[in-house]
Amino acid sequence: MESYKHILLAADFSEHGSAVADRAKDLVEKYQAKLSIVHVMDNLLITDAAYGSTIPFDLDLTAELMAAAKKRLANLAESLNIAEDCRWMEMGSPKLEIIRVAQENNVDLIVVGSHGRHGFALLLGSTANGVLHHALCDVLAVRLHDD
Ligand code: AMP
Repeated sequence: MESYKHILLAADFSEHGSAVADRAKDLVEKYQAKLSIVHVMDNLLITDAAYGSTIPFDLDLTAELMAAAKKRLANLAESLNIAEDCRWMEMGSPKLEIIRVAQENNVDLIVVGSHGRHGFALLLGSTANGVLHHALCDVLAVRLHDD
């Protein structure tokens, strides 16, 4: 069986996040792999078609949210013994950014949570779905239960 060398944990700071983090940690120990972590802040940008430009929705709010997210990422990364240069805080589309970070850092396994949504949510697609279908490396979707 293939041995993973670099595992990327996609962290959304949700209440189920620890189950996903635990699974990533188990795999890191099993394969003696390097662990990286990524959190993506959905950007608060609005596009003004009339002017053909993209303007920040609220610069102060964006900076505040970014600082709070960075703090949470640092706390989680410390608890998982993830080195500073393996922590990624990005802005944009979670699916695209997770995949980009994985590709640019030679990640061979991405670990995400999956709520196993049905119906409408499934049609619209979720981050887990997007990563699963577009990543070039293996993806582990850890089943999360909403009860
Ligand atoms: P979702 O299907 O969008 O609820 O997300 C499922 C999983 O995708 C989460 O458990 C995380 O592993 C990952 N994920 C979702 N949003 C983000 C985000 N903003 N940053 C990093 N990972 C995320």
